[in-house]
Amino acid sequence: MLIIMGLDSPDKDVENVKDKVKSNGCVPHVIPGASKLAIGITGPTNKLNDEDFQLMPSVQEVVRVTKKYKLVSRQMKNEDTVIDFGSAKVGNKELMIIAGPCSVESRDQIFDIAGQLKEMGIKFLRAGAYKPRSSPYSFQGLKEKGIEYLLEVKKELGMKIVTEVLNPGTLGIVSEAADIIQIGARNMQNFTLIEEAGKTGKPILLKRGMSATVEDLLLSAEYILSQNNYNVILCERGIRTFETSTRNTLDLNAIPVIKQNSHLPIIVDPSHGIGIGDKVPNMALAAVASGADGLMIEVHHKPESALSDGYQSLTPKKFKELLNKLSELAPIVNKELKL
Ligand code: PEP
Ligand code: MN
Repeated sequence: MLIIMGLDSPDKDVENVKDKVKSNGCVPHVIPGASKLAIGITGPTNKLNDEDFQLMPSVQEVVRVTKKYKLVSRQMKNEDTVIDFGSAKVGNKELMIIAGPCSVESRDQIFDIAGQLKEMGIKFLRAGAYKPRSSPYSFQGLKEKGIEYLLEVKKELGMKIVTEVLNPGTLGIVSEAADIIQIGARNMQNFTLIEEAGKTGKPILLKRGMSATVEDLLLSAEYILSQNNYNVILCERGIRTFETSTRNTLDLNAIPVIKQNSHLPIIVDPSHGIGIGDKVPNMALAAVASGADGLMIEVHHKPESALSDGYQSLTPKKFKELLNKLSELAPIVNKELKL
């Protein structure tokens, strides 16, 4: 349920609405917006009577939200959510480009790649310090040491850091380095973790689970917004299908569907989506043509010796070629590549 009020509504009218919501066992969420003041209501809204609210001072409209997800829906908030990072934004015309290795492997490795990406104008560096690997015998990440190196990169190069958290116990240390906390595909429905990550107030990059529907993804995002954290970036990274010739099946259909149903920005990770480096650029271009707000791409200076996901990583040279193509494509789809 959504209560629309004028932007200039007196505080006491807004407080009265919120109190009435709470006294009925529901939770009011003031939704940020430029043109009107909206109060989203979650909880047992079937107990609420629309007319009781319609008659209250400053209330303009009462809307019933029919989707299972509420706060993330366009019904609740029609304007696109734009997240401002100072040096860049996501959710507006600017294409967000996040690039970097799958994992932090050493101080030299992360500085080498980050330095080359910074030269190209990339503002967001991705790299995992805690890695969720399918096999317990695979490289699990440098953990605390990896976070330490990311903090150094952040300080010395001024790049924004995107890095994954695997459990609530390491949320504190991961948030020290992360400008954006990544929730990986395997944890998309780890509701305790995503709620705790949401409570940090940091922007969250929520990757789609490999067997999750679009609705599941939006419901997971709903957990974060219901912690009053509206800074969520969704990420399509491929789903499991019967197809085995590629690592995953990149579901580009999800982009226009999500754009229609949610105000949240959605980016695409074609590296995990297709899993084959030389095919990543085409899928990246296709993602932008589908209306994505940005891309997350794995880049490694020596893909053949990477400790994780080398096969799907682009060399800095190939990545630069992709950036050139993206800058040509962007204006055609009403986007802008700001480097
Ligand atoms: C990653 O980004 O390196 C990663 C582990 O991705 P996903 O969670 O999508 O598999
Ligand atoms: Mn990876």
